[in-house]
Amino acid sequence: MSNGNVIRGARVGSAPPRHPERHRPVPCRSVSFWCRNGHRTDIRIAADAATPELWDCPRCGLPAGPDAQDPPGRVRAEPYKTHLAYVKERRTDAEGEAILAEALAALRHRRGRP
Ligand SMILES: [Zn+2]
Repeated sequence: MSNGNVIRGARVGSAPPRHPERHRPVPCRSVSFWCRNGHRTDIRIAADAATPELWDCPRCGLPAGPDAQDPPGRVRAEPYKTHLAYVKERRTDAEGEAILAEALAALRHRRGRP
């Protein structure tokens, strides 16, 4: 039978416990970011960390994103607008509602409903 007074794992004069995990590098992956000036920044983040949406470009300070084709904050002289965006510029929401009601009424009329 074992002696109940023994404290397992503790030895007088033993070397301090080692912590090899302290020196083991955390698994990393590389992520590239592009700012709208075309600067590429490679960063290494922990493998299990989520990719940040934005990263400040160290060269020009602009926000950089992980998509080279679509860097954040890009400014164009003539921004692309959808057809709906142009319509919304010309029409207020109230006018839109009126036009919609009118169109629905005409549609219902055509279908024979009041
Ligand atoms: Zn930059």
